[in-house]
Amino acid sequence: ALPQKQGVRIQRYTQALEDQQRQRLSVQRALRGAAERGELSLAFQPKIGAHHGRVVGAEALLRWHHPQLGRVSPGLFIPLAEASGDIFAIGSWVIEQALWHIAQWQDALWMTPEFNIAVNVSARQLNRRDFADTLLGQIQRHGVERAHLGLEVTESGLMNDLHNARQQLDRLHAAGIAIAVDDFGTGHSSLAYLKTLPLSTLKIDRAFVMDLEHSAVDRQLAHTITQLAHGVGCNVVAEGIETSAQADYLHRIGCEIMQGYFYSYPLPAGDFAAFCTRHAGAARPA
Ligand code: C2E
Ligand code: MG
Ligand code: MG
Ligand code: MG
Repeated sequence: ALPQKQGVRIQRYTQALEDQQRQRLSVQRALRGAAERGELSLAFQPKIGAHHGRVVGAEALLRWHHPQLGRVSPGLFIPLAEASGDIFAIGSWVIEQALWHIAQWQDALWMTPEFNIAVNVSARQLNRRDFADTLLGQIQRHGVERAHLGLEVTESGLMNDLHNARQQLDRLHAAGIAIAVDDFGTGHSSLAYLKTLPLSTLKIDRAFVMDLEHSAVDRQLAHTITQLAHGVGCNVVAEGIETSAQADYLHRIGCEIMQGYFYSYPLPAGDFAAFCTRHAGAARPA
């Protein structure tokens, strides 16, 4: 038998695991049907061109407001949706919504031909063989210019079926859809993706941006990632910029596009359109 103290510890640990498991299940259950109940929305975080300071696009970020649970972070519920398979319905809802908004905004003066709104796509979505066809059909139905939509793909899980993911992305790339690797440098096989996938953008993860001012290693990493990206014909988006010092450094090393609370929080659609109108001709909005 175990010594008593250790036995108690294991019991507590097991209890904590069970609580966590129960919480996961209840969130998973609450998430099912959230779109139909009108609990989901998209927030748009502006992306700023480093050279001219104008808004060049946005990242669409999913928001979930549950009547009892309140606001639930996508960092929590997206992995659960990936595990349960609900990510297919949710992901398709995200793409529909993004396209609906783009269609609304398409005639606005600030929506230049290169203006790009990127949605986040999970590896599991890409593992479907009809992902590209379905997406292209949705774009056509909404009457949206293909150049206005982009994808942000995270590395985790892509390797499971890289061959199919690559086929899907090749089709979309050929159709003029910009593909970015999100959170670059945090996964396991980033460099292999550069070799295999038709990428136009690398997004430097916030982990390398947050300590730029204090960490020579992070400055070196950001610099090297930027040079690497340029070397393989990609442009660079830096995410999570919160200070002018971070922005200045990233601009200096050649990063083309800036994103972070320093410029703007993710905004509800109406506020995002107002932000773009305000900054249409402006120099640095910050
Ligand atoms: P991500 O794609 O890397 O998105 C960036 C996250 O950083 C967002 O968190 C954004 O709100 C946050 N952020 C932006 N600027 C700053 C900053 O200056 N400082 C700090 N501290 N944070 C900043 P969010 O919205 O909570 O999303 C978390 C993750 O959830 C996303 O990371 C993405 O992986 C996932 N996600 C969000 N929406 C979707 C979606 O529609 N589909 C899928 N598959 N995943 C999504
Ligand atoms: Mg993203
Ligand atoms: Mg990211
Ligand atoms: Mg990130």
